[in-house]
Amino acid sequence: MAVTADEATLREQASNEAHVRTALQAARLPLAIQRAREKASNLKPDSAADLLVRASQRAPTVVQRVLWLHKAAIAWSKPIAAVAACRKGCAHCCHIPVTISSREAKLISAATHRKLQEPARSVRLRDFEEADSTAAASTTLQHWGTSTACPFLVDDACGIYASRPLSCRVLFNLDDDDLLCQHGAHEPAVVPYADSRMIRALALAAQPSEQFADIRDFFPPAS
Ligand code: SF4
Repeated sequence: MAVTADEATLREQASNEAHVRTALQAARLPLAIQRAREKASNLKPDSAADLLVRASQRAPTVVQRVLWLHKAAIAWSKPIAAVAACRKGCAHCCHIPVTISSREAKLISAATHRKLQEPARSVRLRDFEEADSTAAASTTLQHWGTSTACPFLVDDACGIYASRPLSCRVLFNLDDDDLLCQHGAHEPAVVPYADSRMIRALALAAQPSEQFADIRDFFPPAS
């Protein structure tokens, strides 16, 4: 298909803007990492998070474990949210890969009355047990890239805030603004996120038989 002169100009402008953004981000990254380290070292954890994690570990069913962990994630994130760059109306992270469990997908489906689909690509806990298979599992979960919005994003706000998955509850940029979250259509951002590995690992361990897939695999966006 032929490209018009206007389209060519727009593409050139976009390319220039991307170069400027990339240069600004490269210059910012060391400072952002330093800021994130300082903020992380000054955090005072919310003691309710531990209690809620323990409640999750005592819960008899998977769904109860997940719901307790969702509450734990909110308590865990409270002091982090207070110093993070994340603000209402900022939705960069709703365009990056968002891994959820099949249990969380069922909770979202029940809350929204939206039918969920069998994901075309998914992994299970056992796929994370060896280095090689962890890499393959991560590739599977990243396949949507950064150009497709979450199907529940409405006017740059989460349309399922009360039912949002754990991945969204624990993702916080510890820089002072969203510069590093800005990403191109096919390039991931390098962001000093708060370290959520522990609570994510607990969520994996709490659901050993569940499938994990991108939210867009359970709820494909309208094409
Ligand atoms: S579930 Fe909500 S917060 Fe999470 S990616 Fe989708 S719109 Fe964003």
